[in-house]
Amino acid sequence: MSVLVLMEQGDPSQQMLTLARKFGAPLHSVEMDAIKPFAPDFLAALLSALADEVNASAVLAAGTERGNEVMARVAARMCLPMAANCVAATPGDPALVTRQRWGGSLLEEARLHSPRPLITVAPHTVPIEHGPEPVGVDIDHVRSKLDPTLLAVKVSEHVQPSHGGVSLAEANVIVSGGRGVGSKEGFAIIEELAGLLGAAVGCSRAVTSAGWRPHTDQVGQTGTKVAPEVYIACGISGATQHMAGLKGAKRILAINSDPQAPMMQNADYTVVGDLKEIVPAISTEIRNRR
Ligand SMILES: Cc1cc2nc3c(=O)[nH]c(=O)nc-3n(C[C@H](O)[C@H](O)[C@H](O)COP(=O)(O)OP(=O)(O)OC[C@H]3O[C@@H](n4cnc5c(N)ncnc54)[C@H](O)[C@@H]3O)c2cc1C
Repeated sequence: MSVLVLMEQGDPSQQMLTLARKFGAPLHSVEMDAIKPFAPDFLAALLSALADEVNASAVLAAGTERGNEVMARVAARMCLPMAANCVAATPGDPALVTRQRWGGSLLEEARLHSPRPLITVAPHTVPIEHGPEPVGVDIDHVRSKLDPTLLAVKVSEHVQPSHGGVSLAEANVIVSGGRGVGSKEGFAIIEELAGLLGAAVGCSRAVTSAGWRPHTDQVGQTGTKVAPEVYIACGISGATQHMAGLKGAKRILAINSDPQAPMMQNADYTVVGDLKEIVPAISTEIRNRR
């Protein structure tokens, strides 16, 4: 018996490995990047074949967009149950899992009745503990036997975000704007502060719905899950669906005219007032100190 893990670059896969080690079996790994460009059907077929080959008692991946997408396809292909976005798991049949629902506002305990549970681990919910590293599985002999039409669904092009620069998911500092910014043009002061801090620009769904920023900038349940050292929320109320993307943020600074806004209640530091005055004032202060 062994446990098969699908690895990606970055912390979410290390967090997943921490949970995978609790299964107490030798770990075998497949790299997501082994198939380039990303082709979820092909990867799912590859994982399914390798899970049989290594007699996997469980298959785990990070609960990233790609991790969840590939594992859902593995589940459909193998007719096995999958639990997405787990924060804890106990091996067995049934395996016991605790998983996030409703964007992380609810934790559900579930039993997975399966000889081979498929599990993804919610990013930034499991503290990384180091231990035995997984052994990479040789994929070439399986890959050459797979139907090439499985490569029909693949990433065909990468388009850089319009603002370029730091990606949201990996940014150490994020300056994020909500409806309170007021307009597309209003984001000039958010971009200015982000530029001075070497930060990424984020936003709420109210902003993307209004067409002020692209969806790639959206933070939250239906946007990007972020884990910066500092998240600066400007004119964002802090709806549950927005906060679902902030669980990995170490510190939150909220700037809002409403001291009762949920974001202000959840923040480590707050400034009550008009962001159109406060944000440029912070930028000026940073410039003066340089
Ligand atoms: C299924 C589903 C999924 C969703 N997914 C997401 C998601 O991924 N991400 C997301 O963000 N939302 C998501 N939403 C939407 C979410 O519920 C909220 O509607 C949204 O987050 C609100 O955005 P906001 O905070 O910018 O706007 P608002 O809630 O309107 O808040 C604006 C804030 O700005 C403050 N403000 C106004 N003017 C100023 C000023 N001059 N200076 C300072 N402060 C000011 C106000 O006091 C207020 O707190 C989702 C909703 C659903 C139903």
